[in-house]
Amino acid sequence: MKKYQLIVVGGGPGGYTAAFRAAELGMSVAIVDDNDLGGVCLNWGCIPTKSLLKNAEVFELINDASSYGIEIGKPKVHFDKIIDKTIQARKRLSKGLHFQVRKLGVDFFPGFASFINQNSIEVDGNTLHGDTFIIATGSKAKHLQSLDHSSKNVMTAKDIFNLKKLPKSMTIIGAGAIGVEFAYFFNAFGTNITLLEAQENILPNEDLDVSQWMHKVLKRKKIDIQTNTLATEINDEYVLVSIGVEGNSKGFGLNKIGIEIGPNQHIKVDKDGKTNIDNIYAVGDVVGPPWLAHVSSTEGLYVVEHISKLNPKKIDYNCIPACTYSKPEIGSIGLSQEMLDKDGIDYKVVKSFFNANGKAVASSSTEGFIKILVSKDNYVLGAHIIGSNATEMISEFSLAMRNKLSVENILDSIHPHPTFSEAIFETLMQLK
Ligand SMILES: Cc1cc2nc3c(=O)[nH]c(=O)nc-3n(C[C@H](O)[C@H](O)[C@H](O)COP(=O)(O)OP(=O)(O)OC[C@H]3O[C@@H](n4cnc5c(N)ncnc54)[C@H](O)[C@@H]3O)c2cc1C
Repeated sequence: MKKYQLIVVGGGPGGYTAAFRAAELGMSVAIVDDNDLGGVCLNWGCIPTKSLLKNAEVFELINDASSYGIEIGKPKVHFDKIIDKTIQARKRLSKGLHFQVRKLGVDFFPGFASFINQNSIEVDGNTLHGDTFIIATGSKAKHLQSLDHSSKNVMTAKDIFNLKKLPKSMTIIGAGAIGVEFAYFFNAFGTNITLLEAQENILPNEDLDVSQWMHKVLKRKKIDIQTNTLATEINDEYVLVSIGVEGNSKGFGLNKIGIEIGPNQHIKVDKDGKTNIDNIYAVGDVVGPPWLAHVSSTEGLYVVEHISKLNPKKIDYNCIPACTYSKPEIGSIGLSQEMLDKDGIDYKVVKSFFNANGKAVASSSTEGFIKILVSKDNYVLGAHIIGSNATEMISEFSLAMRNKLSVENILDSIHPHPTFSEAIFETLMQLK
């Protein structure tokens, strides 16, 4: 029987980040995954979808080439090559992860892990013994009871990568980030899209101004958006269900060893990521929202440093950036105006539009705005960006909020010209 100081179950961003950090800190580490390292994020989530979206952006740019003074013929789309490009991106990053595994001396066990007791698991007939465990088994897409998910026309995000050709029409159920990203992608290539959302607004977690702006953009692209709508009869060629996820906590012995599971199949953990069993921790999607790769990896790092008694700084769940990738992009962090109103918190709001920004005008990307919500004593409470490069710009607010930098501190920092990020400076200058 092989023995390790730490065994990580699940090799997504939460799991591999934890395993690598633990190895760097000198622990003997094993990581187990029944698919491949990288998890949902690398295999059909964050990375492959961003590769798809880049194709859509290029296609749109080519179609708009004449507005840049460039005349070209009608572009021809090879859907198989678009999918292949996502596979190449995945393979390249996967190689990097396997290289790290070897370099750091982590033992990778491909296979399905099942707990035997709180100190050992079984993986394809091998028993591994661990002093400590981190469960990072992620989440899976929720199914809609009213649909026959065994039909090849009813898909979740993972199935998109098995499509052989562009669908003529598709209904997307759920207008969160994933639903909106796929709506943008397929619409760009000519698929008729209907986007259904049960709540009052698309992107219901975003500040209302942002979600309404995105609604207008998608409408302009002729996407049929129906909010306050539950899926009933659907006549499109395909249905994509993107209504959220549930924790992957079933079927690998957690009941047997008595791990407490909460609502939505999420493993219950304390503020340090520890389950109700002393030597077993859990991180990432399996412990609940926000279901984001950077949250999983942050938790993975935190837990390992906590186990190693390095006294890591607590994760601040009030300042987690969230991104939606489409054209325009959305980057947001902290509280929305609706949340502030609901909680009766005093705030100031400043906003500016990209059509007044030099770089945006020069690069014909003037869609959108920056909206910043600031406390009475001039600290950022929330920032909401919709526009080009929004997903890059939001990190400035992440830095400021996490480190309690004031508006004055941000204004003290020089923003290069011409950049989209100057809009942050210009927006905050309204407070001077
Ligand atoms: C289409 C899509 C797009 C997304 N885009 C983004 C994005 O742009 N940005 C972002 O931050 N997030 C995005 N996400 C979410 C992101 O992918 C997840 O938050 C992230 O992957 C969670 O990481 P994790 O390590 O917690 O789990 P996962 O990445 O789900 O990894 C868990 C791993 O554990 C394995 N596993 C499960 N059970 C066992 C077992 N018993 N034994 C062995 N192995 C097991 C699984 O096979 C999997 O490989 C997207 C998700 C989807 C579906």
